[in-house]
Amino acid sequence: MNKNIKQLREWIAVSDAIIVGVGSGLSSAAGYNHYHWMSALEKPLHQLKETYGFESPFAGFYYCYSDYASQWGYYSQYIKAMMDAPTGQPVADLRERIGDKPHFVLTTNIDMQLSRVFDEKNLCMFQGDFSFLQCSQPCGDELIPAENLIQAMTENLVDGMWIPTELVPRCKHCGRVLVPWVRDDTFLEGKYWKESIQRYYDFANKWIGQKDKKVLLLELGVGEMTPAIIKLPFWNMTAENENVRYVCMNKEESSAPEHLKDRALYVQGDLGENLHFLNIIS
Ligand SMILES: [Zn+2]
Repeated sequence: MNKNIKQLREWIAVSDAIIVGVGSGLSSAAGYNHYHWMSALEKPLHQLKETYGFESPFAGFYYCYSDYASQWGYYSQYIKAMMDAPTGQPVADLRERIGDKPHFVLTTNIDMQLSRVFDEKNLCMFQGDFSFLQCSQPCGDELIPAENLIQAMTENLVDGMWIPTELVPRCKHCGRVLVPWVRDDTFLEGKYWKESIQRYYDFANKWIGQKDKKVLLLELGVGEMTPAIIKLPFWNMTAENENVRYVCMNKEESSAPEHLKDRALYVQGDLGENLHFLNIIS
């Protein structure tokens, strides 16, 4: 077992508030890797994967389909697979360890795993989430709950490949096709998104601003692709505030910023195993 797990457990125990930053590594540890095929997604998407030759679930998500019925044939089955997917053990372990402590979760994941176990008011889904659709333009500031629409589409699939044209979801204001609320060049950064970011800032300011309170920034499975969302702000908050500690849990080795010194901790290794150890050691 990684020797830093015990230290992390102590840091969690003595902290007054915790901000968790979650990247794709936690989804992978939970069994839902969106960049490589794993059984949880390969099974439900097998036919589409074989037909199109997709190299990963996300490859199918960003593929340029010839028509909306085929595009939504893929989207609907992908989203349905994540709706039906059980909560991954690492996600449950994280929730258990946080317990009743004041907390906020900032994530770049879009696969609905965290919103099952964390209250919406304590959660910012920075890159969107499969639980909502948006107008592809977008013509206005509206997020449409996905569940009922996805249910109807997947119940009416044709040959497992596409949906009937009349079920292609359309914006009720402008008539354009709806798309999943997931980061791309038309991503809707509307009221819901802005308010969730404001809640994150408010939480951080409230707790870090009280110099007698200990705040823990816990970074989980954050890759190198988008450091500006979680990693760099976490480093800055730690560097600028003596009452903040920073922990990075990741499968890959990460370099520790020198200036954070004894207020930073790296727990390298299998994220699922390490989150589990965190709950079973005493
Ligand atoms: Zn519209």
